Amino acid sequence: MYLPDFEYYAPATLSEACELLEKLGPGAKVIAGGTDILSKMKQELLFPKAIVSLKYLSGLSEIRLESNNDVIIGAKATHNSLIDSPVLQEKYPSLCNAAHQMANNQVRNIGTVGGNIVNAVPSADLPPLLIALGAKIKLVGTNGERVLPLEDFFTGPNESIIKQDEILTEFIISEQSLTGSTYIKFALRRSGALAVASVAVAVAMEGNTCRKARIVLGAVAPIPLRAKKAEEMLTGKEITDELLEEAGSVASAESKPISDIRGSAEYRRDLVRVLTRRALRKAINEGHV
Ligand SMILES: Cc1cc2nc3c(=O)[nH]c(=O)nc-3n(C[C@H](O)[C@H](O)[C@H](O)COP(=O)(O)OP(=O)(O)OC[C@H]3O[C@@H](n4cnc5c(N)ncnc54)[C@H](O)[C@@H]3O)c2cc1C
Repeated sequence: MYLPDFEYYAPATLSEACELLEKLGPGAKVIAGGTDILSKMKQELLFPKAIVSLKYLSGLSEIRLESNNDVIIGAKATHNSLIDSPVLQEKYPSLCNAAHQMANNQVRNIGTVGGNIVNAVPSADLPPLLIALGAKIKLVGTNGERVLPLEDFFTGPNESIIKQDEILTEFIISEQSLTGSTYIKFALRRSGALAVASVAVAVAMEGNTCRKARIVLGAVAPIPLRAKKAEEMLTGKEITDELLEEAGSVASAESKPISDIRGSAEYRRDLVRVLTRRALRKAINEGHV
């Protein structure tokens, strides 16, 4: 499998990269780790006339804690750097865990968080948990930058609101009163397999009462899906086994899965029911984010 011909650009600054993307137009694509875009090109699913590499853009790989306790994750941070980040291990170990469930070591070494999001693949592992954690994203283009909730980014399979001249530069997770979060993925193999269904949960508990719950479903709708009815039924309630069971059923009814090679819609709906219950119990019981 050979790569088709393309022009290659490796700009030194963000503004140069955005200007190039605008000038070259829709035939130009960004490359970060290349784990996804290069396989699509080799499989002749994508024929960009130009590739704009983020390789020489500095400052986009950092994972840091700001003085206001915001956690910033650079879009070029690799999955393995998420796993190894002392900041995330301390503040959001669920993210280290989610990254660990992805792909294999080679892909985790070069695949980036930004690429995982901009791909907008419904089964991608990081979007559900980042949305559950209330992450915002920064998009930088020729006309300046915009910051928006990650939840508003996706519009369909492989589709998002990113503009041709924009680059995703970072994720911002603001300090909040969460007491637990987790991500559970069901895949057909233990490693290197995409999710058949996945559930991310973030909760704020006060004793046994749920003050806030965010439940985000992966691989069971065209975009990562908030199970808002299930969230509402938990808010302000004492947690019981029956309530968690019910929340699982409600989340399942909210999912919109398709049948494909990895599983039928019916199977996926049942997975959502079970995984939601398990994820809620884990996030509530573990007592750390
Ligand atoms: C063997 C294998 C296993 C995999 N397993 C998993 C898995 O278990 N779970 C999972 O979720 N994914 C998996 N993937 C998919 C992929 O590796 C990840 O989504 C990865 O995070 C993509 O990041 P990348 O940097 O390699 O993206 P690239 O291939 O460089 O880019 C992907 C897309 O995003 C765009 N892009 C990248 N960065 C930016 C940016 N900062 N701003 C604007 N646009 C950008 C590119 O133009 C392209 O359209 C797997 C892939 C392989 C090859």
